Amino acid sequence: MSMDKRLGQRYLPYGANYLDWSDMHELREAIEHGVLFRYQTEGESVASRLERTVARRLGARHALAVHNGTEALRLALISTRPRTGDLVHIPAVTFVAVAGAVLASGLVPVLVDVDQSLSLDPALLPSGAERVIVAHMEGTVAPLPQGVPYLVEDCAQSLGAVLPDGRHAGTAGYAGTFSFHHNKVLTSGEGGLVVTQDADAWATMRCYHDHGSARVPGCYPTWNADAHYGENFVTSEGVAAVQCQQFRHLDELLAGLERHYAVALDNLPARTDLRVLPRAAGDVKTSVRLRWESRELRDAAVAALTARGIANWTLGKYLLPQHPVLTGRRSLYADGFPWSLAPEGPLMLSRDGFARTRDLLERTLCVPLSPELGEQEQVLAVKALRQILEAV
Ligand SMILES: *Cc1c(COP(=O)(O)O)cnc(C)c1O
Repeated sequence: MSMDKRLGQRYLPYGANYLDWSDMHELREAIEHGVLFRYQTEGESVASRLERTVARRLGARHALAVHNGTEALRLALISTRPRTGDLVHIPAVTFVAVAGAVLASGLVPVLVDVDQSLSLDPALLPSGAERVIVAHMEGTVAPLPQGVPYLVEDCAQSLGAVLPDGRHAGTAGYAGTFSFHHNKVLTSGEGGLVVTQDADAWATMRCYHDHGSARVPGCYPTWNADAHYGENFVTSEGVAAVQCQQFRHLDELLAGLERHYAVALDNLPARTDLRVLPRAAGDVKTSVRLRWESRELRDAAVAALTARGIANWTLGKYLLPQHPVLTGRRSLYADGFPWSLAPEGPLMLSRDGFARTRDLLERTLCVPLSPELGEQEQVLAVKALRQILEAV
């Protein structure tokens, strides 16, 4: 497949796509083994190997693979044994799945305004906030609040990111959640994973994710006398095999993003009305984030890049206070659940009604970095970008 074709297929590419028959030996192994159900394999399942590999790489004690990042969030929240209607503080700027996971769990989201880096502003959290989801968006490591009993780090867009203290994103709080969706850092089309340092939390999640059972691998599920209900989030050997293959490329991918980012910073457009937002050393460099002086300039840049076929995106879609799912407060339940638990809708925590955040989002433009390109190709891509931005 040509490079152009591949780039074209990477809708909102956060990472690369290493899918290639010559590289799929874990998948071949799973097929040759003849068992795609993780709890029926002879010897260690591919799913367990994936969990072990990810946990070791991230410095997490426990990992559990599930179908997607949204399930991973639900599992993390439900495992905290909340009451229906309990509040969960989430960033006001993130993918709607975060709010959806909270609502689907019978909990009520509180939208917390963001700081300059567009990450949840911990200063706005009330003391005593029990459940907080922080999202490390586009590889940007968010500041973490202190003293929150159930802090969930949503790392769907930031696999491989490192916190300022050297720990991996996802391992500092109660749980960290990851996604292998098509447009994340690594992909198996769909896929998710949760990590935790807490053995009891892992055991609770494992039980809930397999119908509430205390299954022994190789056996039909068993339910203890104190069993609770659960759901089925158990991953498949085929998907886990692709994830193992993808994961082998993580360091190469992170290095490719770092290199492209460095090239981009060396070739900044020379104009005073445009700023490149700095990225921290531990960020995954999935994109260059540009901040314009005005919305008009930003929109002109979007039009110019799009006309030249250069991938780019804006972040307005992440502004949850304006998201139709949250403003509409609709539900498929006849009694309006879970809004029945929060008749006023999601709560909001902002100093200024999100005015500053709206302004920041309206002036921000993101351009993806391409880890699979060689350095020469990255230089050419950055020069083309610079030329277009200077002509806006
Ligand atoms: C993609 C994403 C999710 C949901 O992950 P899925 O695997 O698509 O369910 C959650 N949070 C953030 C920040 C995401 O970008």
